Amino acid sequence: MSTSHVGVLALQGDTREHLAALREAGAEASTVRRLSELEAVDALVIPGGESTAMSHLLRELDLLEPLRSRLADGMPAYGSCAGMILLASEILDAGVAGRDATPLKGIDMTVRRNAFGRQVDSFEDDIAFEGVDGPVHAVFIRAPWVERVGPQVQVLAEAGGHIVAVRQGKTVATAFHPEMTGDRRIHKLFVDLLTE
Ligand code: GLN
Repeated sequence: MSTSHVGVLALQGDTREHLAALREAGAEASTVRRLSELEAVDALVIPGGESTAMSHLLRELDLLEPLRSRLADGMPAYGSCAGMILLASEILDAGVAGRDATPLKGIDMTVRRNAFGRQVDSFEDDIAFEGVDGPVHAVFIRAPWVERVGPQVQVLAEAGGHIVAVRQGKTVATAFHPEMTGDRRIHKLFVDLLTE
């Protein structure tokens, strides 16, 4: 079985942690900052960070439409936090018009940006995660939640009564940051999907 080559979108955010997590989960991993790098990968991770800044850079670097069309063509992706927001088909509280977070439409879902953030900036919780044995320690930082999922979307985890992890085909999104905890089970789940 050949090793999947997974790119990590490296415009802004916690790129390095994802590169390390992907390698430990058994994938080849490298950064994506330009079109040729996007074209070379089998799958893409969109890290946590700031979705409005990443959207702005995607537009500036002419990567927004190419990335959208690769996702539309079925390229698998995994987004954590800001990455989850960008993978949505619709974003609520997306920010100021013109500088707002732009949906890449990788998953048929409506995501509310900074949803937990209004109550408390950051929190941690041990949550059940579909397909992973035992609880996952989830770190939420100004995290979004999912308010609607389409019929093809599977809910993988909830926290405080809200959907915080989903999957549609080979594309996965989590509102929290598994790359920060040293637990590689979520990255492994994604990497294993790629070779299914
Ligand atoms: N609130 C951030 C955003 O809107 C996401 C925070 C994060 O990635 N930890 O993109």
